[in-house]
Amino acid sequence: MVAINGKTKLLGVIGSPIEHSRSPAMHNAAIAELGENYVYLPFPIAPESLQTAIEGFAAIDVRGFSVTIPHKLAIIPFLEAITEKARLVGAVNTVWRTETGWQGTNTDVDGFLAPLQSLSRDWSGVNPVILGNGGAARAVVVALASLGCREIHVVGRNQRKLDPFKESWADTDLYGSVEVHGWDELEGLVSDTGLLVNSTPIGMSPHVGESPVEGELLDLLPSGALVYDLIYNPRPTRLLQLAEERGVTAIDGLEMLVNQGAIALEIWLGRSVPVGVMREALLKG
Ligand code: NAP
Repeated sequence: MVAINGKTKLLGVIGSPIEHSRSPAMHNAAIAELGENYVYLPFPIAPESLQTAIEGFAAIDVRGFSVTIPHKLAIIPFLEAITEKARLVGAVNTVWRTETGWQGTNTDVDGFLAPLQSLSRDWSGVNPVILGNGGAARAVVVALASLGCREIHVVGRNQRKLDPFKESWADTDLYGSVEVHGWDELEGLVSDTGLLVNSTPIGMSPHVGESPVEGELLDLLPSGALVYDLIYNPRPTRLLQLAEERGVTAIDGLEMLVNQGAIALEIWLGRSVPVGVMREALLKG
């Protein structure tokens, strides 16, 4: 437990709803382990209160905060600067304060990469397939491009959203690497990919019996392919169970969650943080 006194500095997470967030447990466990005089709090902020909240945070000397649904885009106009990563993703999940103002970045990109970087592979010819084209998929695209993937396939159910998804990168090097597809094209894509990523919420608790694809489709994966599900509750999801039954390496969303948080805490504290303690705190959650 963090001991609070007159010198305690504030961190937190803004979102709506925020009651179920596991971030306070994860961050406060690391803060306690490090003996830092900080506390990380949940701040339920309605969309219409965002500006007031940010101004208030400056007034009460909040040092930094995580940003979750629905504020990841809306926060950007209130920031002095955002990193290139956040600009490419188009969303901010981590904010910190400097003498001149609020700065933002997106740590989901490196959080997603963490479990992949521990596997030494040449990713350039992997032709990843991403299911879903929401906010997390954007971070996944940016991450995979940074690994050297030059053919990234994004599968979505709504063409009206898929075209703008690709077009948002029209002025960047990423544009030529991203292809968008309907679900009817999935079968052809799966047989030629080394990495299938689920960025839809299909299979997330309480709908634990659901999977975005069935086993017959996973049978088409080339040998050595990986299946990565961003969902961290349950572990494993039905998708990952089906993959494991077929001897396919399965990666769940826990490491992404832990690592995006660890990178944020490193920014706020300016020192390395105990990732293992953060993981344990989440698992206890
Ligand atoms: P989001 O912005 O709402 O995007 C969800 C995407 O999934 C959208 O493209 C949506 O399509 C699609 N989708 C939803 N239900 C579908 C269905 N029944 N059939 C086909 N497509 C469906 O959400 P997000 O922020 O990207 O998050 C997605 C998932 O990633 C969540 O499960 C979240 O918990 C997980 N996540 C994990 C981490 C981590 O650290 N591990 C980080 C971020 C997100 P439409 O746009 O057409 O609705």
